[in-house]
Amino acid sequence: MKYLNFSSDSKMPILGLGTWQSEKGEVYQAIRTAINIGYRHFDCAAVYGNEKEIGQALKDAFDAGDVQRSDLWITSKLWNTAHKKGQVKPALEKSLSKLKLDYLDLYLMHWPIAIKEDAPFPFPADGFYTLEEIPLEETWNAMHDCHKAGLIKNIGVANFSVKKIKKLIAATGIKPSANQVEMHPFLPQKDLVDFAQKENIYLTAYSPLGSGGRPGAPDLFSNEILTTVAKKHNCTVAQTLIAWSIKRGISVIPKSVNPKRLEENFNSININLDEADMGQIDHINIAHRFIDGTFFTPEGSPYTLENLWD
Ligand code: NAP
Repeated sequence: MKYLNFSSDSKMPILGLGTWQSEKGEVYQAIRTAINIGYRHFDCAAVYGNEKEIGQALKDAFDAGDVQRSDLWITSKLWNTAHKKGQVKPALEKSLSKLKLDYLDLYLMHWPIAIKEDAPFPFPADGFYTLEEIPLEETWNAMHDCHKAGLIKNIGVANFSVKKIKKLIAATGIKPSANQVEMHPFLPQKDLVDFAQKENIYLTAYSPLGSGGRPGAPDLFSNEILTTVAKKHNCTVAQTLIAWSIKRGISVIPKSVNPKRLEENFNSININLDEADMGQIDHINIAHRFIDGTFFTPEGSPYTLENLWD
């Protein structure tokens, strides 16, 4: 397993397990199985609604001696309804309590978007705070305070553009350690990769397998270039997609609750794509974002796809 060195005592395993849509009743066993397979990095979030089950699985794994807390990298995320400075620490403490942990390795601001505490889903146009009402800097400074208090080893962001990261750093002087964004060969995010490398910000690729697909969307699994590269390495397309991120030095968090696919995905660490494979994959000229954020942009919302993905 390769690691990304965030700091001297903080190493992120490059391959982790995603837990969005890992349902209650399934996620407990998925975590226990994943730990036995060798996963040591878990990507969680308050909004996924399953942190309690994940916490129980982690506790039971520690108690059974399967693994120790210090062997694991646990990420969680601050949801958009807790962006006011007084809301950040309580939200973090709630996640820690559900996860049965006393610190996180990484805490991310989930989206550069603030939502009213009582907004129903789907979000109505008046269900949002503008970024003038709750600036991202306010949320970020509060996260930094939690970092200083020792509750989180690293703080980062998710779904942030280069422009938003630059603005955040200019306003606060605090650089995010990480930015978690959708990334796969249909969305290679080259500008963000170049910027992050220059600035020493680690990227994590979410929805690396296309997030289960969407009706009418292009399909990574049947892409001819990807199937050809997979055949050459005698592996699956899913493994090729995961190996592609690892080759780029970018951490990657495919989600599965299926024991066979958990194992298949983990074994991607043994697949080494060469420069020719990477060059071939670079030639894929399909552009698609599976998680495009439209749920934040109803008519009349202060957020638009243009200002979200600026
Ligand atoms: P993904 O990992 O790209 O795809 C997951 C889907 O692929 C599931 O339907 C899964 O089904 C299936 N799958 C898993 N392994 C497979 C394999 N080897 N072959 C075929 N199908 C396979 O999608 P994702 O869940 O959207 O993204 C991964 C993680 O990124 C999330 O779980 C979450 O932790 C994180 N994420 C973060 C954000 C953010 O805003 N920061 C947004 C989206 C996702 P089974 O479970 O049945 O195997």
